[in-house]
Amino acid sequence: MTDTKKTVYTFGSKKAQGNAQMKDLLGGKGANLCEMNLLGMPVPPGFTISTEMCALYSAGGRSIVLNRIKDEVQTAITEMESQMGNLFGSNTEPLLVSVRSGSRASMPGMMDTILNLGLNDKSAEGLANKTGNPRFVWDSYRRFIQMYSEVVLHIKPLNREAKNPFEEIIEELKKVKNIKLDNEFTAEDLKEIVYLFKSMVKKVSGTDFPSDPWEQLWGAITAVFDSWMNERAVYYRQLNNIPEDWGTAVNVQAMVFGNMGINSATGVAFTRDASTGENIFNGEYLINAQGEDVVAGIRTPQQISLEGSKRWATSAGVSEDERFEKFPSLEETMPKIFKELQDIGLRLEEHYRDMQDIEFTIQEGQLWMLQTRNGKRTGAAMVKMSVEMFEEGILTEKEALLRVQPERLDELLHPVFEKNNLEKAVVLGQGLPASPGAASGQIVFFAEDAVKWAEEGKTVVLVRLETSPEDLKGMVAAQGILTARGGMTSHAAVVARGMGKCCVSGAESFRINYKTRTLKCGDIELKEGDWISLDGSTGKIYKGQITTTAATLSGDFDALMNMTDNHATMKVRTNADTPQDAEAARRFGAQGIGLCRTEHMFFEGDKIKAVREMILAEDKVGRNAALAKLLPMQRQDLEGILWAMEGLPVTIRLLDPPLHEFVPHEEASQKEMAEEMDISVAVLQEKIRTMHESNPMLGHRGCRLGNTYPEISEMQTRAIIEAALNLKKAAIKTFPEIMIPLTGTPAEMEMQKKIVNKTAEQVFREYGQRIDYKVGTMIEVPRAALVADKIARSAEFFSFGTNDLTQMTFGYSRDDTGKFLPFYLENGILENDPFQVLDQKGVGQLMKMAAAKGLSERPDLKLGICGEHGGDPSSIEFCHSIGIDYVSCSPFRVPIARLAAAQAAIKNHKQIESESFNSQPELLEI
Ligand code: ADP
Ligand code: MG
Ligand code: MG
Repeated sequence: MTDTKKTVYTFGSKKAQGNAQMKDLLGGKGANLCEMNLLGMPVPPGFTISTEMCALYSAGGRSIVLNRIKDEVQTAITEMESQMGNLFGSNTEPLLVSVRSGSRASMPGMMDTILNLGLNDKSAEGLANKTGNPRFVWDSYRRFIQMYSEVVLHIKPLNREAKNPFEEIIEELKKVKNIKLDNEFTAEDLKEIVYLFKSMVKKVSGTDFPSDPWEQLWGAITAVFDSWMNERAVYYRQLNNIPEDWGTAVNVQAMVFGNMGINSATGVAFTRDASTGENIFNGEYLINAQGEDVVAGIRTPQQISLEGSKRWATSAGVSEDERFEKFPSLEETMPKIFKELQDIGLRLEEHYRDMQDIEFTIQEGQLWMLQTRNGKRTGAAMVKMSVEMFEEGILTEKEALLRVQPERLDELLHPVFEKNNLEKAVVLGQGLPASPGAASGQIVFFAEDAVKWAEEGKTVVLVRLETSPEDLKGMVAAQGILTARGGMTSHAAVVARGMGKCCVSGAESFRINYKTRTLKCGDIELKEGDWISLDGSTGKIYKGQITTTAATLSGDFDALMNMTDNHATMKVRTNADTPQDAEAARRFGAQGIGLCRTEHMFFEGDKIKAVREMILAEDKVGRNAALAKLLPMQRQDLEGILWAMEGLPVTIRLLDPPLHEFVPHEEASQKEMAEEMDISVAVLQEKIRTMHESNPMLGHRGCRLGNTYPEISEMQTRAIIEAALNLKKAAIKTFPEIMIPLTGTPAEMEMQKKIVNKTAEQVFREYGQRIDYKVGTMIEVPRAALVADKIARSAEFFSFGTNDLTQMTFGYSRDDTGKFLPFYLENGILENDPFQVLDQKGVGQLMKMAAAKGLSERPDLKLGICGEHGGDPSSIEFCHSIGIDYVSCSPFRVPIARLAAAQAAIKNHKQIESESFNSQPELLEI
């Protein structure tokens, strides 16, 4: 930055030195204030100090920045004076200004604003005389003293419990005067407040409140720069991944006054409904008010449009007469201004080609625009607005698709709490938003109870320290799952997401006592049978029952999904282990199954018994006997799944987990099992003990099982092929793909393939019929990626199992990351949780290499991904870039993946079209 570069950009009277493209330099607020001027809209004049000065302030400090900007600020103030016809610092007709923050990304309410700057005792008297409106002047002055003292002099409550000293003075005077609302104060009252404020400030700070407007101005400007680093702002930036070095701009703008009487007002408007997406102009305003009064909740704000006002009255239980008398809409009180505002809103929306969130003030019958920005919105609103703006011809199809954040589709797919009830509910605590949705139910602490109670027709929430595969049935029976331990990739979280079931995990402050069957949350103790409610999208846990409404999928949602098909080149499959899941996924547009885990079928009913028998068998003969019992059950399950996916490919993975996962570890279940098997508990326990592995995830599992016990792979292959042949008889077309897990060497794969092919041929001979099938492998051991070309000699497809691949590439045990991962994320050692967002630089490179090597050996090799990452948008974009054919994810993530796949294709295309395209940060800001 050279010392001659401009630091201040002025706007006013339909001219401006900046424009909407200059957000980086002027912040969103400043850039859009310029743009509105250029559009000829009524905007009070002012200027913006560039974000570069924020960086200079952080690095060099106060005096360096003030020296740098002083002359330009003084010139800009002079310009404002001539436009406004008054003088900064004058005692008779003072120019008053606001000092406002504004960074590149919108951070609503995160930083500080000061209004009515320039007032002191003398100019207040002068202005009161000149306007003949002393009430307005003293009201403005007391607001200024409070804001300035809080923001610049740091006079605020010491902690959250302590009262705000300014509010205390106001409350005290209200009591004395026997009034309820601020706007009932007379001019005299307000003057008294000013006096009381100033003496309090002097007492606390030891000096007089600054009366020199220039001193006030420099103080306010530096305070805005300081506010970039305040706790709120730092936290918000962390949450939203906003870089610290962006900095904030400072906007200084001539004041217009919404507090001059009943012809004045202030408000906020949206060009479309931010919560539903409906194309209706809406918003709120307050007569005779200023600044943030509307959002502060001191008075009940009124609706802008008549339609909105009527809707509000209905839901608030206010009669039409009362509404009209006490809460009339702007459309009724100031119809001409309403029309003007609506027209400006329309023009802004057309200009920015997006829904606008507008701040305005009306001063004695004249409308002034104070801010416009692309409005934040719910997932549902995103979808509706995008689709409608495409239909209205505002957006192209590609733009409409890019406007929707894939993750936000989640909100449309799960049941939601009714808003009214949620507001009244008692919050018990906070966990991790592990699986979205809303669930209310009676507390149970054991999976068996969940099943039993559910059978009795009760709705339950399963509360556990953590869950294990043994709890699966209970999880299915429960409405939602709450765990005190575990993270976003804990068993409970992963399984719940797969089922599309609400789950809150890691509620660390909760104390669960299995013995007394109680749950302690702070001072509140709940027992079994008490009602509890979970919001899986926010991680909030509530006391009692809250009614939910099922998410209904709109026509807009379907329209959006259809649009994705015109652009996506990757296919989207689902991970599904049951026909129900498969059907649900198909309804969401899944184009096959990318991962069907056969072991998940083993937990149900009689199957688990046969599985355990097989595991505990002494020898091959015993194993074969148990496998013979399993075969018909497995075949039947597979028939159901293959049928549900008629006409589409289904990838079925042979048995993967270590066998000890199937045997009971709790004494009660061991007893039960020993009885069934007709052996003593001691003998059973000894068997279980011998199965112990010190590192089971790296132990006897995956194809190591199938190669050492080939009879297991034989039975499973037989079940698959027989199921497909049986369906063929019924003229149902199937495309089974048999997938070998955990391959690390070409020989392992080759051996499994031989077993599969031999068994299949055997079955074909028995049936006198054939079907097409493929044999392929998961690439989830790093070594497999390294020798992928050799493995591709026998594998007809690769599916990247990115959960294990991440686990083994990093050397992190997925279930044990809780002890260090939070620290790593907080301290920037890792950018993301690699189990949620694919590590493109490491794991991704292995994938890229494996894909290339595989294709070099077998050009028609099919490539897919079936880890958790298959449903993560940024990971999907990466998969697109390395030429993956399909991603596979849980049923409820299918729409997200479809949209992400379309976006990946569109962005990739654009990148090729123009080098300069950057990935639209503005859209992501929503
Ligand atoms: P935020 O970024 O938190 O929205 P703003 O800088 O937009 O803060 O200021 C908050 C409110 O203060 C505005 O919505 C507007 O009502 C009021 N305000 C700001 N500047 C002026 C001004 N020059 N004249 C009148 N009101 C103003
Ligand atoms: Mg604002
Ligand atoms: Mg695996």
